[in-house]
Amino acid sequence: MEKWKTELAPADEQNLARAAELLQKGEVVGFPTETVYGLAGNALNPEAVEKIFLAKGRPQDNPLIVHIASMDMLPVLTNNPPELAFKLAKAFWPGPMTMVLPKSDLIPDVVSAGLSTVGIRFPSSKVAQALIQKSALPLAAPSGNLSGRPSPTTAAHMMEDMDGRIPMILDGGPCSVGVESTVIGVGTDRVRLYRPGGITVEMLEEICPVEIDPGVLHAVEAGRKVASPGMKYRHYAPKADVQIVEGSFPAFRTFMEQQKGEGVYAIVFNGEENSLPVPALAFGAEDDPAAQARLLFDLLRECDELGAKRVFVRSPRVTGIGLAVYNRLLRAAAFQIVHLNESGVAE
Ligand code: AMP
Ligand code: MG
Repeated sequence: MEKWKTELAPADEQNLARAAELLQKGEVVGFPTETVYGLAGNALNPEAVEKIFLAKGRPQDNPLIVHIASMDMLPVLTNNPPELAFKLAKAFWPGPMTMVLPKSDLIPDVVSAGLSTVGIRFPSSKVAQALIQKSALPLAAPSGNLSGRPSPTTAAHMMEDMDGRIPMILDGGPCSVGVESTVIGVGTDRVRLYRPGGITVEMLEEICPVEIDPGVLHAVEAGRKVASPGMKYRHYAPKADVQIVEGSFPAFRTFMEQQKGEGVYAIVFNGEENSLPVPALAFGAEDDPAAQARLLFDLLRECDELGAKRVFVRSPRVTGIGLAVYNRLLRAAAFQIVHLNESGVAE
Protein backbone atom coordinates (compact mmCIF):
# COMPACT_ATOMS: atom_id res chain seq x y z
CA MET A 1 0.00 0.00 0.00
CA GLU A 2 1.21 3.49 -0.90
CA LYS A 3 2.26 5.72 2.03
CA TRP A 4 0.57 9.13 2.05
CA LYS A 5 0.86 12.31 4.03
CA THR A 6 -2.88 12.48 4.69
CA GLU A 7 -4.40 15.93 4.36
CA LEU A 8 -7.40 16.97 6.47
CA ALA A 9 -9.11 19.53 4.23
CA PRO A 10 -12.24 21.64 4.87
CA ALA A 11 -14.95 20.65 2.38
CA ASP A 12 -14.92 23.94 0.44
CA GLU A 13 -15.25 24.35 -3.34
CA GLN A 14 -11.52 24.22 -3.98
CA ASN A 15 -10.86 21.10 -1.90
CA LEU A 16 -13.94 19.37 -3.32
CA ALA A 17 -12.49 19.97 -6.80
CA ARG A 18 -9.11 18.54 -5.71
CA ALA A 19 -10.81 15.50 -4.15
CA ALA A 20 -12.83 14.96 -7.35
CA GLU A 21 -9.62 15.07 -9.35
CA LEU A 22 -7.99 12.45 -7.11
CA LEU A 23 -11.05 10.22 -7.60
CA GLN A 24 -10.85 10.59 -11.38
CA LYS A 25 -7.19 9.52 -11.20
CA GLY A 26 -8.19 6.32 -9.39
CA GLU A 27 -7.20 7.40 -5.86
CA VAL A 28 -9.42 7.13 -2.78
CA VAL A 29 -10.54 9.96 -0.46
CA GLY A 30 -12.40 10.35 2.83
CA PHE A 31 -15.67 12.29 2.77
CA PRO A 32 -18.63 13.03 5.03
CA THR A 33 -22.14 11.72 4.47
CA GLU A 34 -25.17 12.18 6.71
CA THR A 35 -24.65 8.69 8.15
CA VAL A 36 -20.90 8.31 8.84
CA TYR A 37 -17.66 9.29 7.09
CA GLY A 38 -16.92 7.16 4.04
CA LEU A 39 -13.86 6.11 2.06
CA ALA A 40 -14.68 6.76 -1.60
CA GLY A 41 -13.29 5.45 -4.86
CA ASN A 42 -14.50 5.28 -8.48
CA ALA A 43 -17.03 2.42 -8.39
CA LEU A 44 -16.40 1.65 -12.07
CA ASN A 45 -12.62 1.23 -11.66
CA PRO A 46 -11.61 -2.11 -10.06
CA GLU A 47 -8.11 -0.81 -9.16
CA ALA A 48 -9.56 2.15 -7.27
CA VAL A 49 -11.93 -0.19 -5.46
CA GLU A 50 -9.01 -2.51 -4.53
CA LYS A 51 -7.38 0.49 -2.83
CA ILE A 52 -10.45 0.91 -0.62
CA PHE A 53 -10.25 -2.70 0.58
CA LEU A 54 -6.51 -2.32 1.17
CA ALA A 55 -6.71 0.98 3.10
CA LYS A 56 -9.44 -0.41 5.39
CA GLY A 57 -8.13 -3.93 5.73
CA ARG A 58 -11.63 -5.01 4.70
CA PRO A 59 -12.36 -8.69 3.96
CA GLN A 60 -12.77 -9.16 0.19
CA ASP A 61 -16.14 -10.88 0.64
CA ASN A 62 -17.79 -7.79 2.16
CA PRO A 63 -19.41 -5.76 -0.67
CA LEU A 64 -19.36 -1.95 -0.98
CA ILE A 65 -22.27 0.45 -1.33
CA VAL A 66 -22.30 2.59 -4.50
CA HIS A 67 -23.25 6.25 -3.93
CA ILE A 68 -25.08 8.28 -6.56
CA ALA A 69 -26.36 11.86 -6.74
CA SER A 70 -29.16 11.58 -9.28
CA MET A 71 -32.12 9.24 -9.63
CA ASP A 72 -31.12 8.62 -13.27
CA MET A 73 -28.15 6.53 -12.11
CA LEU A 74 -30.38 3.91 -10.45
CA PRO A 75 -31.48 2.11 -13.66
CA VAL A 76 -27.98 2.48 -15.15
CA LEU A 77 -26.19 0.68 -12.31
CA THR A 78 -28.86 -1.97 -11.71
CA ASN A 79 -30.45 -4.59 -13.92
CA ASN A 80 -34.20 -4.35 -14.31
CA PRO A 81 -35.08 -3.15 -10.78
CA PRO A 82 -38.66 -3.80 -9.58
CA GLU A 83 -41.16 -0.89 -9.56
CA LEU A 84 -40.98 -0.94 -5.76
CA ALA A 85 -37.36 0.27 -5.92
CA PHE A 86 -38.43 3.46 -7.67
CA LYS A 87 -41.25 3.95 -5.19
CA LEU A 88 -38.84 3.62 -2.25
CA ALA A 89 -36.33 5.93 -3.94
CA LYS A 90 -39.03 8.53 -4.37
CA ALA A 91 -40.01 8.24 -0.70
CA PHE A 92 -36.58 8.10 0.97
CA TRP A 93 -33.88 9.44 -1.38
CA PRO A 94 -31.79 11.43 -0.93
CA GLY A 95 -31.32 9.82 2.48
CA PRO A 96 -29.83 6.99 4.58
CA MET A 97 -31.33 4.03 2.68
CA THR A 98 -29.33 1.51 0.63
CA MET A 99 -31.22 -0.75 -1.77
CA VAL A 100 -29.73 -4.10 -2.76
CA LEU A 101 -30.73 -4.82 -6.37
CA PRO A 102 -29.56 -6.99 -9.29
CA LYS A 103 -26.41 -5.30 -10.62
CA SER A 104 -25.76 -4.11 -14.15
CA ASP A 105 -22.62 -5.21 -16.01
CA LEU A 106 -21.06 -1.81 -15.30
CA ILE A 107 -20.47 -2.79 -11.67
CA PRO A 108 -17.17 -4.64 -11.27
CA ASP A 109 -17.21 -7.91 -9.27
CA VAL A 110 -14.85 -6.47 -6.67
CA VAL A 111 -17.54 -3.90 -5.66
CA SER A 112 -20.23 -6.53 -5.11
CA ALA A 113 -17.77 -9.07 -3.65
CA GLY A 114 -18.77 -11.47 -6.40
CA LEU A 115 -22.52 -11.24 -5.68
CA SER A 116 -24.97 -10.67 -8.53
CA THR A 117 -26.44 -7.71 -6.62
CA VAL A 118 -25.25 -4.22 -5.74
CA GLY A 119 -26.16 -1.85 -2.90
CA ILE A 120 -27.07 1.66 -4.13
CA ARG A 121 -27.58 4.83 -2.09
CA PHE A 122 -28.29 8.50 -2.85
CA PRO A 123 -26.99 10.38 0.21
CA SER A 124 -28.63 13.60 1.42
CA SER A 125 -25.35 15.19 2.57
CA LYS A 126 -24.64 18.22 0.37
CA VAL A 127 -20.87 17.59 0.54
CA ALA A 128 -21.34 13.97 -0.54
CA GLN A 129 -23.60 15.06 -3.41
CA ALA A 130 -21.11 17.74 -4.50
CA LEU A 131 -18.24 15.21 -4.53
CA ILE A 132 -20.23 12.74 -6.64
CA GLN A 133 -21.30 15.50 -9.04
CA LYS A 134 -17.86 17.10 -9.38
CA SER A 135 -16.15 13.77 -9.99
CA ALA A 136 -19.01 12.73 -12.32
CA LEU A 137 -18.62 9.18 -10.97
CA PRO A 138 -20.64 6.73 -8.93
CA LEU A 139 -18.59 6.34 -5.73
CA ALA A 140 -18.07 3.01 -4.01
CA ALA A 141 -17.69 3.81 -0.33
CA PRO A 142 -17.69 1.80 2.88
CA SER A 143 -17.41 3.50 6.26
CA GLY A 144 -14.04 5.23 6.64
CA ASN A 145 -12.77 3.23 9.64
CA LEU A 146 -10.20 0.46 9.75
CA SER A 147 -12.12 -2.79 9.40
CA GLY A 148 -13.59 -3.86 12.74
CA ARG A 149 -13.30 -0.40 14.39
CA PRO A 150 -16.27 1.85 15.16
CA SER A 151 -17.39 3.90 12.12
CA PRO A 152 -16.11 7.51 12.10
CA THR A 153 -18.66 10.27 12.63
CA THR A 154 -16.10 13.10 12.45
CA ALA A 155 -13.15 13.79 10.14
CA ALA A 156 -10.81 13.60 13.15
CA HIS A 157 -12.02 10.06 13.92
CA MET A 158 -11.42 9.04 10.32
CA MET A 159 -7.93 10.55 10.55
CA GLU A 160 -7.19 8.34 13.60
CA ASP A 161 -7.75 5.26 11.43
CA MET A 162 -6.63 6.42 7.96
CA ASP A 163 -3.61 8.69 8.64
CA GLY A 164 -0.87 7.74 6.16
CA ARG A 165 -3.10 5.36 4.20
CA ILE A 166 -4.99 7.79 1.88
CA PRO A 167 -4.20 11.21 0.36
CA MET A 168 -7.07 13.28 1.72
CA ILE A 169 -10.08 13.51 4.05
CA LEU A 170 -12.71 16.21 3.39
CA ASP A 171 -13.95 17.68 6.67
CA GLY A 172 -17.65 18.53 6.58
CA GLY A 173 -18.29 18.55 10.34
CA PRO A 174 -19.97 15.84 12.43
CA CYS A 175 -22.49 13.47 10.77
CA SER A 176 -26.15 14.17 11.50
CA VAL A 177 -27.36 10.54 11.70
CA GLY A 178 -24.30 8.84 13.20
CA VAL A 179 -25.02 5.22 12.23
CA GLU A 180 -24.64 3.67 8.77
CA SER A 181 -27.48 3.50 6.25
CA THR A 182 -30.45 1.18 6.39
CA VAL A 183 -29.72 -1.76 4.03
CA ILE A 184 -32.70 -3.49 2.40
CA GLY A 185 -33.11 -6.17 -0.22
CA VAL A 186 -35.92 -5.09 -2.54
CA GLY A 187 -38.40 -7.61 -3.95
CA THR A 188 -41.46 -7.03 -6.11
CA ASP A 189 -43.88 -6.39 -3.23
CA ARG A 190 -41.81 -6.32 -0.03
CA VAL A 191 -38.38 -5.54 1.37
CA ARG A 192 -36.04 -7.47 3.61
CA LEU A 193 -34.09 -5.56 6.27
CA TYR A 194 -30.40 -6.52 6.49
CA ARG A 195 -29.16 -3.55 8.49
CA PRO A 196 -31.34 -1.07 10.41
CA GLY A 197 -30.52 2.65 10.11
CA GLY A 198 -31.93 6.14 9.79
CA ILE A 199 -34.77 5.06 7.48
CA THR A 200 -36.62 3.04 10.08
CA VAL A 201 -38.80 -0.09 9.82
CA GLU A 202 -41.79 2.07 10.73
CA MET A 203 -41.02 4.41 7.81
CA LEU A 204 -40.53 1.55 5.34
CA GLU A 205 -43.81 -0.02 6.45
CA GLU A 206 -45.61 3.08 5.20
CA ILE A 207 -44.64 1.90 1.70
CA CYS A 208 -44.62 -1.94 1.83
CA PRO A 209 -44.30 -4.96 4.16
CA VAL A 210 -40.87 -5.40 5.81
CA GLU A 211 -39.27 -8.75 6.69
CA ILE A 212 -36.51 -8.52 9.26
CA ASP A 213 -33.59 -10.79 8.46
CA PRO A 214 -32.65 -12.90 11.53
CA GLY A 215 -29.06 -11.54 11.24
CA VAL A 216 -30.28 -8.11 12.41
CA LEU A 217 -30.83 -9.32 15.99
CA HIS A 218 -28.98 -12.63 16.19
CA ALA A 219 -25.42 -13.81 15.74
CA VAL A 220 -24.72 -15.52 12.43
CA GLU A 221 -23.15 -18.95 13.01
CA ALA A 222 -19.62 -19.37 11.69
CA GLY A 223 -19.58 -20.65 8.13
CA ARG A 224 -23.24 -19.87 7.38
CA LYS A 225 -23.81 -18.09 4.08
CA VAL A 226 -25.63 -14.79 4.60
CA ALA A 227 -27.47 -12.56 2.17
CA SER A 228 -25.67 -9.44 3.40
CA PRO A 229 -22.07 -10.31 4.29
CA GLY A 230 -21.57 -7.39 6.71
CA MET A 231 -23.89 -9.15 9.17
CA LYS A 232 -21.40 -11.87 9.99
CA TYR A 233 -18.57 -9.62 11.18
CA ARG A 234 -18.21 -8.51 14.80
CA HIS A 235 -17.75 -4.86 13.77
CA TYR A 236 -17.70 -1.60 15.66
CA ALA A 237 -15.64 -3.07 18.44
CA PRO A 238 -13.62 -0.95 20.82
CA LYS A 239 -10.71 -2.73 22.50
CA ALA A 240 -12.76 -3.18 25.67
CA ASP A 241 -15.11 -6.06 26.35
CA VAL A 242 -18.62 -4.59 25.89
CA GLN A 243 -21.79 -6.03 27.44
CA ILE A 244 -25.39 -4.88 27.02
CA VAL A 245 -27.33 -4.82 30.29
CA GLU A 246 -31.11 -5.26 30.34
CA GLY A 247 -33.15 -4.25 33.38
CA SER A 248 -34.16 -1.17 35.39
CA PHE A 249 -31.76 1.60 36.36
CA PRO A 250 -31.84 0.71 40.11
CA ALA A 251 -30.97 -2.88 39.15
CA PHE A 252 -28.14 -1.57 36.93
CA ARG A 253 -26.73 0.51 39.80
CA THR A 254 -26.72 -2.47 42.16
CA PHE A 255 -25.11 -4.65 39.49
CA MET A 256 -22.36 -2.05 38.90
CA GLU A 257 -21.50 -2.17 42.63
CA GLN A 258 -20.44 -5.77 42.04
CA GLN A 259 -18.62 -5.05 38.77
CA LYS A 260 -16.66 -1.93 39.76
CA GLY A 261 -12.88 -2.04 39.45
CA GLU A 262 -10.03 -0.77 37.34
CA GLY A 263 -10.99 -0.08 33.73
CA VAL A 264 -14.72 -0.66 34.30
CA TYR A 265 -16.99 1.91 32.67
CA ALA A 266 -20.70 2.35 31.99
CA ILE A 267 -22.61 3.89 29.10
CA VAL A 268 -25.95 5.12 30.41
CA PHE A 269 -28.84 7.45 29.61
CA ASN A 270 -28.59 11.18 30.32
CA GLY A 271 -28.95 12.02 33.99
CA GLU A 272 -27.89 8.56 35.22
CA GLU A 273 -24.13 9.09 34.94
CA ASN A 274 -23.53 10.75 38.31
CA SER A 275 -25.23 8.23 40.56
CA LEU A 276 -23.09 5.22 39.68
CA PRO A 277 -20.11 3.64 41.47
CA VAL A 278 -18.07 3.59 38.20
CA PRO A 279 -17.17 6.33 35.70
CA ALA A 280 -19.98 6.64 33.17
CA LEU A 281 -20.54 8.25 29.76
CA ALA A 282 -24.01 9.49 28.83
CA PHE A 283 -25.42 8.54 25.44
CA GLY A 284 -28.60 10.57 25.13
CA ALA A 285 -31.95 10.53 26.88
CA GLU A 286 -33.67 7.14 27.21
CA ASP A 287 -36.47 8.30 24.89
CA ASP A 288 -34.14 9.94 22.34
CA PRO A 289 -32.75 7.18 20.09
CA ALA A 290 -31.66 9.75 17.47
CA ALA A 291 -29.24 11.25 20.01
CA GLN A 292 -28.01 7.76 20.94
CA ALA A 293 -27.37 7.03 17.25
CA ARG A 294 -25.34 10.24 16.87
CA LEU A 295 -23.24 9.49 19.97
CA LEU A 296 -22.78 5.71 19.94
CA PHE A 297 -19.63 5.38 17.82
CA ASP A 298 -18.00 8.43 19.46
CA LEU A 299 -18.51 6.85 22.88
CA LEU A 300 -17.10 3.51 21.78
CA ARG A 301 -13.96 5.36 20.58
CA GLU A 302 -13.82 7.34 23.81
CA CYS A 303 -13.82 4.08 25.77
CA ASP A 304 -10.58 3.16 23.99
CA GLU A 305 -9.01 6.51 24.80
CA LEU A 306 -9.91 6.08 28.45
CA GLY A 307 -8.30 2.65 28.46
CA ALA A 308 -11.55 0.91 29.33
CA LYS A 309 -11.28 -2.85 29.84
CA ARG A 310 -14.95 -3.62 30.43
CA VAL A 311 -17.91 -1.48 29.39
CA PHE A 312 -21.50 -2.09 30.52
CA VAL A 313 -24.16 -0.40 28.40
CA ARG A 314 -27.80 0.26 29.32
CA SER A 315 -29.96 -1.49 26.76
CA PRO A 316 -31.65 1.03 24.42
CA ARG A 317 -35.27 0.90 23.28
CA VAL A 318 -35.60 -0.76 19.88
CA THR A 319 -38.22 1.41 18.20
CA GLY A 320 -37.40 3.80 15.35
CA ILE A 321 -33.69 4.38 14.91
CA GLY A 322 -33.26 2.68 18.31
CA LEU A 323 -33.23 -0.64 16.41
CA ALA A 324 -30.09 0.57 14.58
CA VAL A 325 -28.45 1.58 17.86
CA TYR A 326 -29.23 -1.83 19.38
CA ASN A 327 -28.03 -3.68 16.25
CA ARG A 328 -24.62 -1.89 16.36
CA LEU A 329 -24.32 -2.43 20.11
CA LEU A 330 -25.04 -6.15 19.73
CA ARG A 331 -22.07 -6.41 17.37
CA ALA A 332 -19.81 -4.24 19.53
CA ALA A 333 -20.73 -6.56 22.41
CA ALA A 334 -20.24 -9.72 20.36
CA PHE A 335 -23.88 -10.49 21.34
CA GLN A 336 -23.18 -10.59 25.09
CA ILE A 337 -26.32 -9.54 26.97
CA VAL A 338 -26.77 -9.52 30.76
CA HIS A 339 -30.39 -9.79 32.00
CA LEU A 340 -30.88 -8.35 35.51
CA ASN A 341 -33.72 -9.07 37.90
CA GLU A 342 -35.09 -6.28 40.11
CA SER A 343 -32.44 -6.99 42.77
CA GLY A 344 -29.68 -6.32 40.27
CA VAL A 345 -28.68 -9.96 39.97
CA ALA A 346 -27.79 -11.44 36.57
CA GLU A 347 -30.29 -14.14 35.62
P1 AMP B 1 -20.29 -0.48 5.06
O1 AMP B 1 -19.88 -0.06 3.69
O2 AMP B 1 -19.14 -0.76 5.94
O3 AMP B 1 -21.33 0.43 5.62
O4 AMP B 1 -21.00 -1.87 4.83
C1 AMP B 1 -21.92 -2.02 3.79
C2 AMP B 1 -22.77 -3.21 4.05
O5 AMP B 1 -23.86 -3.22 3.13
C3 AMP B 1 -22.06 -4.54 3.81
O6 AMP B 1 -21.40 -4.98 4.94
C4 AMP B 1 -23.18 -5.47 3.40
O7 AMP B 1 -23.69 -6.14 4.51
C5 AMP B 1 -24.22 -4.53 2.80
N1 AMP B 1 -24.22 -4.70 1.34
C6 AMP B 1 -23.57 -3.96 0.42
N2 AMP B 1 -23.76 -4.46 -0.83
C7 AMP B 1 -24.55 -5.54 -0.68
C8 AMP B 1 -25.08 -6.52 -1.58
N3 AMP B 1 -24.85 -6.48 -2.88
N4 AMP B 1 -25.83 -7.52 -1.05
C9 AMP B 1 -26.07 -7.57 0.26
N5 AMP B 1 -25.59 -6.70 1.15
C10 AMP B 1 -24.83 -5.70 0.70
MG1 MG C 1 -18.48 -0.30 7.91
